[in-house]
Amino acid sequence: MQSLSFNQQIEAELSEREWHMFESLKQWTEQQRDAWRSAWRSWRQKQLSAIHNGQAQVQIHISSECIGCFDCEIMCPEIFYITKKRSRIKKEALELNAQQKAFINPKIMSICWSDLQLAKEACPVEAIKLQTLDASDPEPTPELFN
Ligand code: SF4
Repeated sequence: MQSLSFNQQIEAELSEREWHMFESLKQWTEQQRDAWRSAWRSWRQKQLSAIHNGQAQVQIHISSECIGCFDCEIMCPEIFYITKKRSRIKKEALELNAQQKAFINPKIMSICWSDLQLAKEACPVEAIKLQTLDASDPEPTPELFN
């Protein structure tokens, strides 16, 4: 499996983010867009480094859209398995934090973080949702650059 570098990962995510924000981005000047892109890249770089080093907690959820196609299990067998035509998360891939929220075991995350990203991107129905639990470092929003 070919792994994405941090930079490739960040650029792919940034493109996806821009696609979702297409309407609001149209209303900005090129300078505002560049300032936001640059802040977003640094924010994500910090987050990915923390995830890679096992210092950030990442929650994972598989939505009901899953069609059990096996792609995620093939790409990232450390985390996913398929049963009854649905993807599931392996018990050993999860840990509970102090608030009893399940997050991906940091040791497993450090081994397969790029495979997980590839599986998320490959999912044909976008059923794999990831969220980083770090309220102290929120994602830079476009409003900050208006
Ligand atoms: S890749 Fe997506 S649709 Fe396919 S099994 Fe995994 S979560 Fe389900």
